Amino acid sequence: MEHKYNKVLTKIEEADAILIGASNGLSISEGIHIFADNAAFRENFGDFREKYGIRSIIQGCFYPYPSEEEKWGFFSRMYNYFLYKNEASPVMKNLFELVKDKNYFVVTSNIDDHFRQAGVPQERLFEIEGNCRNIQCANGCHHQIYPGDEILSTMARSQKDGKVPLDLIPKCPMCNGIMKVHIEIDRSFLRGEAWQRSYQAYQDFIEKAHGKKLVILEFGVGAENQLIKLPFMKLTQLEEYASYITFNIGRELYIPDAIAAKSMGMDGDISEVLQQLVQMKSANFS
Ligand SMILES: [Zn+2]
Repeated sequence: MEHKYNKVLTKIEEADAILIGASNGLSISEGIHIFADNAAFRENFGDFREKYGIRSIIQGCFYPYPSEEEKWGFFSRMYNYFLYKNEASPVMKNLFELVKDKNYFVVTSNIDDHFRQAGVPQERLFEIEGNCRNIQCANGCHHQIYPGDEILSTMARSQKDGKVPLDLIPKCPMCNGIMKVHIEIDRSFLRGEAWQRSYQAYQDFIEKAHGKKLVILEFGVGAENQLIKLPFMKLTQLEEYASYITFNIGRELYIPDAIAAKSMGMDGDISEVLQQLVQMKSANFS
């Protein structure tokens, strides 16, 4: 295994460009499981669980709340839960440590904003399905995305019985209609200028890496994933000098035969694998 870790570190060290993809499995390794009715869910969302019968954070995102007070009660609670620690998790710190001095780009479907929290600048980040801290017009009357940190943290603090006071509820500055968190839970999700800019940055990054040593690092992306994994596998196949390194657990770790020679599978708890890599990196360079 040590040999394998060293190989990953060498790949990263020698890369001209590093493309990082992450999905739900990375969040799980941080201790956040948006699909689980686990102890953390019951502790942080127990009142919503009881009131609405929701059994996970993701169910809470899709629930048709009877009022705006209750809707924002949930989404501000979720914001607070994802970002209440001002510091990034050890998992995210380790991931950032591995690539921070390199030419890298991150594409993720995670909505928890943890890459930004770990230090990844906006221009190196494409959050395909948005994130929990931005808000938009729920009618999609215009394409502007608004930072919601202040209002969401105030709502999280001020809610009572899962309801946010009416005077804190945001209104669209254009149509005066209701607003929502900028995450992809329905068709009103805006792919406006900011989203397009990030998408374009992702495309530009791939284009510039053409013909170079491109290292693709994929964290916790399911075997069937079409959004991140499929394009990554195709890119690996197309790019002569690409390497594809996928981090996942057991049967979710999938490498097709066509790219097997260019690929490595890192089977195990992502948090432990990253910790090991960072330790070996610092040992190698000291
Ligand atoms: Zn509007």
